[in-house]
Amino acid sequence: ADLTQLKWSKAACRFCGTGCSIMVATKAGRVVATHGDAEAEVNRGLNCVKGYFLSKIMYGQDRLTTPLLRKSNGVYDKNGDFEPVSWDEAFDIMAEKWKKTLAEKGPKGIGMFGSGQWTVWEGYAAAKLMKAGFLSNNIDPNARHCMASAVVGFMRTFGIDEPMGCYDDFENADAFVLWGSNMAEMHPILWTRIADRRFSHPGTEVAVLSTFKHRSFDLADIPAIFTPQTDLVILNYIANYIIQNDAVNKEFVEKHVNFKKGAQDIGYGLRDDNPLQMEAENPNSGAADPISFEEFAEFVAPYTLEMAAEMSGVSEETLERLAKIYADPDRKVMSLWTMGVNQHTRGVWVNNMIYNLHLLTGKISTPGNSPFSLTGQPSACGTAREVGTFSHRLPADMVVANPEHRAKAEKIWKLPEGTIPDWNGAHAVQQNRQLKDGAINCYWVQVNNNMQAAPNMMQEGLPGYRNPDNFIVVSDAYPTVTAEAADLILPAAMWVEKEGAYGNAERRTQFWHQLVDAPGDSRSDLWQLAEFSKRFTTDEVWPAELLEANPDYKGKTLYEVLFTNGQVDAFPLEETSEEYANQEANDFGFYIQKGLFEEYAQFGRGKAHDLADFDTYHEVRGLRWPVVDGKETKWRFKEGSDPYAKEGSGWDFYGHKDGKAVVFALPYEAPPEMPDESFPFWLCTGRVLEHWHSGSMTQRVEELHKAIPDALCYMHPDDAAELNVRRGSAVKVSSRRGEIALRVETRGRNQPPRGLIFVPWFDASKLINKVTLDATDPLSKQTDFKKCAVKIEAL
Ligand code: SF4
Repeated sequence: ADLTQLKWSKAACRFCGTGCSIMVATKAGRVVATHGDAEAEVNRGLNCVKGYFLSKIMYGQDRLTTPLLRKSNGVYDKNGDFEPVSWDEAFDIMAEKWKKTLAEKGPKGIGMFGSGQWTVWEGYAAAKLMKAGFLSNNIDPNARHCMASAVVGFMRTFGIDEPMGCYDDFENADAFVLWGSNMAEMHPILWTRIADRRFSHPGTEVAVLSTFKHRSFDLADIPAIFTPQTDLVILNYIANYIIQNDAVNKEFVEKHVNFKKGAQDIGYGLRDDNPLQMEAENPNSGAADPISFEEFAEFVAPYTLEMAAEMSGVSEETLERLAKIYADPDRKVMSLWTMGVNQHTRGVWVNNMIYNLHLLTGKISTPGNSPFSLTGQPSACGTAREVGTFSHRLPADMVVANPEHRAKAEKIWKLPEGTIPDWNGAHAVQQNRQLKDGAINCYWVQVNNNMQAAPNMMQEGLPGYRNPDNFIVVSDAYPTVTAEAADLILPAAMWVEKEGAYGNAERRTQFWHQLVDAPGDSRSDLWQLAEFSKRFTTDEVWPAELLEANPDYKGKTLYEVLFTNGQVDAFPLEETSEEYANQEANDFGFYIQKGLFEEYAQFGRGKAHDLADFDTYHEVRGLRWPVVDGKETKWRFKEGSDPYAKEGSGWDFYGHKDGKAVVFALPYEAPPEMPDESFPFWLCTGRVLEHWHSGSMTQRVEELHKAIPDALCYMHPDDAAELNVRRGSAVKVSSRRGEIALRVETRGRNQPPRGLIFVPWFDASKLINKVTLDATDPLSKQTDFKKCAVKIEAL
């Protein structure tokens, strides 16, 4: 290859929440190579195997390049075959269906599902279009399946979302505790930083807790396999150990911590009080009654070493070693977790209980002392959480149920008072149920493969998509199982085929430019949202009384109201650099991405979510918010590091009015489904290193597909022997909801204990979510994909 013709540009990895910084080479309109950016703080030149093959994800043979509509005899037919149509025809039928439903059922009859794979401005534009255009809060991101419990955990304990620490903690901690996380496969680049610290800093210990043995156990000094759901018990035992062994940091606790009963449900994942957002008392918040430290100590006292060992199945010796990590005042501890904690019917509680340990010991918000909630999606933080794509949220941690929050959003959006609806929209699982029941009739899915990702898909997913009353639209780059179940497929531009910004797990916002054109007629999700908004006028979708009170808005298109309102379109192309001039922005006539971002940034500035300006992010490798006076923040809440922490406070948990974080007294609670005589095995599902989520991109990269082509049923060799099967044998895995056939694996990367199987969900030909349970955490509405009861039969 003629290397002189390569052009290298910066971008962020398309896949996981680690947010590796990537250098991308383009040549003759194609991405031809990528490598980790050696200058970048996040990954220091490294990539995992998915990152190595980023240059190939856009070039699968079956890339969608034109809209496809189900038709028979030239007209739309739900049972017809997909036929190519123009964008005009696609938007015409979409608009017809949306208008009919809005007229008959109102805004609750439509819905949208997205993800933390939207760029920041795509998620922002989608939320704005739904909540302020169609006046419907029925929009939710896949983060509901992924991070919702972490969000509510943060809001309850700290009153503000997202981790207080950052990746610099990896080089400062003396101990790492993985609570339900297989970082070796899911966050491999961060895992290299833990391994470096473990081998270069004598005395560092790594504890790995899980319900089955996986690759992260290779580095474990303290390995612990626990009975599903008993993380609740182990966490209370450690809190009790800290108290019994006089390891409470009394000065810290006195100054910075409140104790509350925590078992009451506070409703729909709503935030607790937060002065920064000027939030009035929320009707569903504040249900947790204050208690004293002594009452908390009494509450956890029954969680003794003996009780914890008996319930969890972890040896007393191991549990004690684990407790000592937290109790030792001289050890800096980083706790890390992802789906093992969040995908849990008591996921919010587990989040709260991990914070309990760090707050009791004062091991928080200083280098190396860090309860760190890892993220799955590349912009789970930057998009799904921060811009307000959840069905109950608005940007910057605000919620639709709060009138002051709505008023603030309406002011920034230059909309009449009372535009944004006050009802919580349907969350992910509820959306599928409402599609099935016919309560939602028009539904648009972007950057998501929810048919493969959602639980109990045959009973709660597919019926809604195929309900004859419903019109389902799926925007994607490839024909996923979700797209195949739809009525209309819209071809989407991906990654560096469009302008982009993602926010990673350590609050780092990274930008990239569009580097190549998308194939055929495929267009970015942002373009699709904006173009669709041109098909509606306010008269068609807003109530008459709103327009009568605000006649200036009458007869305007939603595009005019939402996307050219004087601030979004304030950046004409000619004012941007030559580099921008070639961008997709041409289709809008102005640099809409910049306008949307600058408008969005107004929500967080002065509210501890401060972002830098748009152009700065194109110059730097990324900055961790809050960015105040051009300076990023590494450790939030700590005086001297966080500009929002009051002088003289030491720590200031300013998300709550009194500046204190909350330790919650929370009990063990049994899971909704447990193995029994009919369904004697636990099923746990998860990901694999080589494939990104449902595999829609990575399965199209030959090297990654060949590395791990099929989902397998990992089980203990003794269970296999008892079932009279062995490696490679076909088995049927069934639950009360559905069944699939898989091949058995008794060795290798996942080694479950007896009575538990592990099955990854990346394989579209073996949909394990036919089997999983659609029970959700009552606070966060997040699904528990980690435990349900199944039986296994030899085939
Ligand atoms: Fe980094 Fe995650 Fe991308 Fe791998 S998938 S290169 S760990 S961001």
